[in-house]
Amino acid sequence: MHELGIAESALQIALDRARTEGASRVHRMVIRVGALSGVDPEALQFAFTAILPGTAAEGAAVQIDPVAAVAHCPDCRQDFTTDTDHFFECPKCGRLCATIKQGRELDLVRLEMS
Ligand SMILES: [Zn+2]
Repeated sequence: MHELGIAESALQIALDRARTEGASRVHRMVIRVGALSGVDPEALQFAFTAILPGTAAEGAAVQIDPVAAVAHCPDCRQDFTTDTDHFFECPKCGRLCATIKQGRELDLVRLEMS
C-alpha cells in the first residue's frame, strides 16, 4: 500500500513546517489528489488515521481534494475530462490523446497550524 508512504511523506513535511514556524500543533492538512496520480483517496485517508496519533498532527483534519483528469485533443483544440488511466479518447473525434493537462497532482496545498 504505497498510500502509507505518501501519507508519511506529507506528515513529515507538515511536521517540519510546524517546527520551522514554531507551531506546536497541526490542525488541518489539505491534499490535492489527481485522478491519475495512482493514489486511492480513501486509502490515503485511512493511512493518515494510522500515522497521526502520537505526533503533533494528532487529531488533525485531513481533507483530500480530488482533481479530475483533463486531457487535450490537438485536433479539436479542446480539453475534455476523462476517467480512464491510460487512453484518453476525445469525445468529439475519437482520437486517442496523450496530453494530460491535469489529473496527476499529488500536493500538500494547505496546512493550518498554531
Ligand atoms: Zn478531438
